[in-house]
Amino acid sequence: MKILRTVEELRQWSRALRCQPGHTIGLVPTMGALHAGHGSLIRAARAVCQHVAVSIFVNPTQFGPNEDYARYPRSFDADCALAAAEGAEAVFAPSVEEMYPTGAATFVEVEGLGSRLDGASRPGHFRGVATVVAKLFLAAEADKAFFGQKDAAQVALLRRMAADLRFATEIVVCPIVREADGLAMSSRNAYLSPAERAQALVLSRALRHVEELAAHGERRASVLVEAARAVFAGEPAVRIDYIAVADWATLLPVETAAPGTLFAVAAHVGATRLIDNAILN
Ligand code: AMP
Repeated sequence: MKILRTVEELRQWSRALRCQPGHTIGLVPTMGALHAGHGSLIRAARAVCQHVAVSIFVNPTQFGPNEDYARYPRSFDADCALAAAEGAEAVFAPSVEEMYPTGAATFVEVEGLGSRLDGASRPGHFRGVATVVAKLFLAAEADKAFFGQKDAAQVALLRRMAADLRFATEIVVCPIVREADGLAMSSRNAYLSPAERAQALVLSRALRHVEELAAHGERRASVLVEAARAVFAGEPAVRIDYIAVADWATLLPVETAAPGTLFAVAAHVGATRLIDNAILN
């Protein structure tokens, strides 16, 4: 597997392969600390693209000043082993200076969407995400890029950005991969103490309860939110950031859930902020 360090190396790698008839490129953007959720994206990419590159870049501009940029888990060698085992041909692992040259002053702002849900709780977060993904799309010139439904608001934001900027890269969304007990896999789960790990199950428990209510015909958003709150009340140490019933395209709240409506939660478990969601049907 190739390790690419510069935008130019990634561009050359991609162009050399894509110029062969029928050869397509899949890109899987990550911040590393890879787990089975990332693995599923790489597999999904391998299933439909001839060549897959995984980017590993802890993007400083998507972290707030009091967030976990410095201590975000970094495990480059293990990440490369996982990426290779899942069938990636290249890892793109640039320096901060490579992605943000000295004096960098150009950012991508998705108005409206960028300040909803996680964008409301984490000012500037989605500006950083949109900016780095735009840079990755420009560098990789991939046919398809693979993202997890786990970050559902991020998916909405990137779909809007890709449509607005007329990117040729198609966005593919993959299901949430969970631990056996329901906890959505996340690099940040590594922060949890054993007690917090148990408390964190309240997120998926609340989602399952809401999905059951919706399956039995409950569509009133206020009722679904209250039902989720009641589940969270059983785990008082967990602090809710938001519980939202929203249109998945606009991230605006809806009063009545319909097939495809996003039910999303974010909560602080100790010092760790976790997110999870379900698409109601
Ligand atoms: P991250 O490294 O956390 O920025 O995530 C990189 C990509 O992996 C994003 O598109 C995430 O949505 C996706 N991802 C993270 N966790 C999961 C999971 N549990 N299941 C599926 N995809 C995931």
